Amino acid sequence: MRVDELLKKPRSGDVLSHQELVYLLDLAPDSMESYMVMAEANRFSKELSGGKAEVHAQFAVNLAPCPYDCLFCSFAKVNGVFNESKELKPEKAVDYALQFERDGANAVFLMSTATYPFGRFIEVSQEVKRSLQPETTLIANVGDQTLKHAVKLKDAGFSGVYHAVRLREGKDTRLSVKGRKESIANFKEAGLEVGTCVEPVGPEHTNEELAEMIAFTASFDPAYSGAARRIPIPGTAIARLGTISEARMAQIVAVTRLGMPRSVTGNCTHEPCTLGAIGGANLFWAEVGANPRDTEQSTENGRGETVSSCHAIFKESGWDVGNGPSRYYNSVTTEY
Ligand code: SF4
Repeated sequence: MRVDELLKKPRSGDVLSHQELVYLLDLAPDSMESYMVMAEANRFSKELSGGKAEVHAQFAVNLAPCPYDCLFCSFAKVNGVFNESKELKPEKAVDYALQFERDGANAVFLMSTATYPFGRFIEVSQEVKRSLQPETTLIANVGDQTLKHAVKLKDAGFSGVYHAVRLREGKDTRLSVKGRKESIANFKEAGLEVGTCVEPVGPEHTNEELAEMIAFTASFDPAYSGAARRIPIPGTAIARLGTISEARMAQIVAVTRLGMPRSVTGNCTHEPCTLGAIGGANLFWAEVGANPRDTEQSTENGRGETVSSCHAIFKESGWDVGNGPSRYYNSVTTEY
């Protein structure tokens, strides 16, 4: 296979095969060919998003030990990082959301742990929705949901959700691939746009696994796909497996972009970094409050980036950031 020949396929609307994705993922991250892949993914991402990156901003409405025990998550009960449950007062949730809106986030995300009562999540969300500009894009990042609950999220004013089948779902987590996929179908049926990602990538994941996950994310035409590496939670069993480099993550981000159809305008990476943006990532997240990758209760005192620091990283990487509501989530109706 020749890389320059493969790079022509997404341009002409052809989908890369499993073998072709594996071939690109097999390249050394610091090879000339990988840099060609990253350059083409960057060009393609800019073409599809009109050269405008986005910054979305997330806060958690609660913090709790979670029985689903995703080994990479600081909320997992098994990891013993957080032993008490706490939830935000609605006024604090509104403060966080308004701050993100003032900071110019293109979308505001409300996250909860998987067992947080759905009714309370809707109540807080409605308070937040009432306080924001009507056009501000509101996104939910919650556990698996029935169609009935998905419709309630839509009715509460959410434009979309973030949801992913995580790598080794069911092995490194107590959730099932089937349940995750059913939720994605429920969200879509309810009219919510779904953003997703190939995550959380560790050194143990094979290129075949990554290629399969890239193809799965492409299969449901998400608002965005992308790739994110696993951030080690100190002292946990899975942290001992190590962490991939930003260079490797940038390569996977680039291959993911090239593995998506042209209808997918967004390509995310987390955590924000210049190499990821150079590899074609056009979506970063700012975070405050509890964060599943952090051992701080308030990630603004830890790993969390701000909207303005995400803007700065994009600028350093040669990207402009769009103003106003997310186009990735509202691709049909919204213009910058
Ligand atoms: S990722 Fe979600 S479901 Fe898994 S342990 Fe963390 S909060 Fe629970």
